[in-house]
Amino acid sequence: MQFFGTTMFAILLLTMGTFLAGNSKEVVTFIEKTSSMSASVFFTQSTTATQLRTTFKAVPETKKKLRILLVPGHEPNFGGAEYLDIKERDLNADLALILARYLVEDGHYEVAMTRGKDGWNPDFQNYFTAKDEEIKAFVRSQKMEMVRLIEEGKVFKMSKQAPHNAAQSDVALRLFGINKWANDHQIDMVIHIHFNDSFPRKPTLPGEHNGFTIYTPEYQYSNSQATAEIAKNIFKRLARMFPVSSLPKEDQGVVEDQDLIAVGNSNSVDAASMVIEYGYIYEPQLRTPDVRRLALKELAFQTYLGLADFFGEASLVAGSHGSTLLPYEGNTPVKKTSLANAEVFALQAALIDKGFYPPSGYTRNACPLSGLLGPCTRAALDAFQYKFGIKDERGVVGEKTRAELRKLFQPNLMSVRR
Ligand SMILES: [Zn+2]
Repeated sequence: MQFFGTTMFAILLLTMGTFLAGNSKEVVTFIEKTSSMSASVFFTQSTTATQLRTTFKAVPETKKKLRILLVPGHEPNFGGAEYLDIKERDLNADLALILARYLVEDGHYEVAMTRGKDGWNPDFQNYFTAKDEEIKAFVRSQKMEMVRLIEEGKVFKMSKQAPHNAAQSDVALRLFGINKWANDHQIDMVIHIHFNDSFPRKPTLPGEHNGFTIYTPEYQYSNSQATAEIAKNIFKRLARMFPVSSLPKEDQGVVEDQDLIAVGNSNSVDAASMVIEYGYIYEPQLRTPDVRRLALKELAFQTYLGLADFFGEASLVAGSHGSTLLPYEGNTPVKKTSLANAEVFALQAALIDKGFYPPSGYTRNACPLSGLLGPCTRAALDAFQYKFGIKDERGVVGEKTRAELRKLFQPNLMSVRR
């Protein structure tokens, strides 16, 4: 059990089954908005971007911090995507913990986690048990109200574009329980943390898609407006280093959903609430422990910066390069290995920052930040070396290339950034 931040609001290290249960691809409802539809919004906003920013700004005076609940997707011991020995549910917990630390250190946030890697936060476990009947009643009444509003034409039922994998009922109940807990505890913001999977896929082979996506509440829900604003900011930061999911519908980056429990199915959560699918479980940067550590840290940091952007404090926290992978130090030789390695990962981040990666003619999805030295990195190096007149290291990372790249990150050359 870990506690962050101030007293009462203990952090919950726990879990939650997330709702994108079964890994997903499940999801998704995509909605075309029309002005006539927005005119009919029925639920009043339970939280707004303005309210959140006001609370944030007042923290030094009021000492009342923003309350963020982090929900590592799936249960401590089951559920979620798996690839070889890599389990999504563990990555979710690792990333949540790194993000929690950034938020707590910032000073504006109180952070609760539903679970850690090894089990539920006892506060949640106790809540699920003690409030079992209340949670069931809450789910029934929210769903009945939703049905009534749809029947009366006050709320539009969105058509599903893809079938949901129905979350197992006890998992679903815990997800609704988390929503209710968040409502009971005046949580301002909920972030569900996941990694994705592609179907069909052979268990030992990578799947077709890569990249991240953020699911937000469908626009009629009372937490939709604030969530959309926050998600937009987080999206921009993540998109700097990472590709957006190549899966159709997810490729818009921020996807509204009416059915996901985590974002507020049946208008069940008051707080701004989103699901971030940070990438696909089989992506190479998640496979080797040292590169995985770097990748999770960077994903968490970019999420934190996105929140800082939303609250207008990014300039205070970002540092000069806005990435945990920069500035490029380039002190270690870069080699090709069969699995991702940290030197290539750092090199790619530097090349992304300077606009050489992905190389021209390639997409972010085809040439992602991966830690693998292959045709993408060689083409980027080739362009870089051409530009800087390095003739004898073409396509390989020699000392001259590293030295040139290193120079671009020296403080007096910041203006070279593209
Ligand atoms: Zn998941």
